[in-house]
Amino acid sequence: MTESFDAVDIIRTKRDKKELSDAQIDWVIDAYTKGKVDPEQMSALGMAIFLNGMNRREISRWTEAMINSGERLGFETLGVPTADKHSTGGVGDMITLPLAPLVAVFGVAVPQLSGRGLGHTGGTLDKLESIPGWNPNLTNDEIRDQLKTVGAVICAAGPNLAPADKKLYALRDVTGIVDTVPLIASSIMSKKIAEGTDALVLDVKVGSGAFMKTKEMAEELARTMVDLGTDAGVKTVALITNMETPLGRAAGNAIEVQQAVDVLHGGGPADIVELTVRLAKEMLEAAGKPVAESEIRAALADGRAWAKWQEMIRAQGGDPDAALPVAKHSKDILADKSGILSKLDAMAVGVAAWRLGAGRARQGDPVQAGAGVIMHAKPGDQVKAGEPLLTLLTDTPEKFDHAIAALDGGWEIVADGSAVAAEPLIMERIA
Ligand code: URA
Repeated sequence: MTESFDAVDIIRTKRDKKELSDAQIDWVIDAYTKGKVDPEQMSALGMAIFLNGMNRREISRWTEAMINSGERLGFETLGVPTADKHSTGGVGDMITLPLAPLVAVFGVAVPQLSGRGLGHTGGTLDKLESIPGWNPNLTNDEIRDQLKTVGAVICAAGPNLAPADKKLYALRDVTGIVDTVPLIASSIMSKKIAEGTDALVLDVKVGSGAFMKTKEMAEELARTMVDLGTDAGVKTVALITNMETPLGRAAGNAIEVQQAVDVLHGGGPADIVELTVRLAKEMLEAAGKPVAESEIRAALADGRAWAKWQEMIRAQGGDPDAALPVAKHSKDILADKSGILSKLDAMAVGVAAWRLGAGRARQGDPVQAGAGVIMHAKPGDQVKAGEPLLTLLTDTPEKFDHAIAALDGGWEIVADGSAVAAEPLIMERIA
């Protein structure tokens, strides 16, 4: 039986920059999940946390309380190690798609419980739903069965996995308190720890298209999440990676699936391949089955990862060979001069793709499978005046103007390419 508190006292404690006790945290998360603390009270507490922070003990207890609001999954009966990856979200980030089957090739099972996109960042489930027939909703038994037979599953997290986080995340989204380390770290890690993976690799994005705009904030988030995972017995590693410019050459749903298919056939954009291979290496190592990078690359080139993808998609009712949906309308954005593309802003491209119909403004809105932005050039590439820089895709052409407005100032072409610094994609590793 948990001790009872008054929500207003708890709000005042954090408002006055004092620490919340373990018992206060347990009570407020439990009472909020059960509807006994009102949303306006939780949003006041969330804002107080946003402004005044939480220390490590408080974050750790907050995470535990959110785990305890629901069920734990656990994969002990599988007989093989499990590894999962979580990205804090970016533009063009479809790495999960080739990564899950690639890691499964080497005998480590990948339970990838994923979400939908909100705002300018895409969601893995929205992307995969562009494959005809593919079903995102599996029961816990179906997840375990597919991990046994195929070795990889990408599906929706069930309603009983950290339900406190589901409720709190929706509230944070509409009250301007998403982007703060204590609440992001506890939100992500409560779901991952409740899922019960043995190993977890975090891809913490930093830059214009990410929640974390500075490297210092990304480092703090990564350190906090690695500590939370390690304390819970999950082997956790984080990479801090660049999200100043989009990943790959597509931001949308079906066009990102197509890019994943290219990678699984041994092709695809170099940055996508680099990050996929590195994350696979980290996951395999963390799961206790290290594999050489050359061997991981070979599995992409020789069809083993593609075969695993086909199995994974078919197991969930999808047809991996079916044609992907194509947008009804397209518009090219042309380079206004010749030179070197020195900037292509991730946020600008993400917002444009979102406005074209690839993303949603409110939870539950439909998305267009074919909508998005194709990038014909990336920073450092030579471009020619009058040639297409970007192609915008949508089923609803009245959206073009709004998307083009989002791209205003989102790219730059310079005459002298020597000034264009090649920023590293993988910036730091935290373990
Ligand atoms: N992703 C999550 O699951 N939670 C957050 O708070 C931010 C990103």
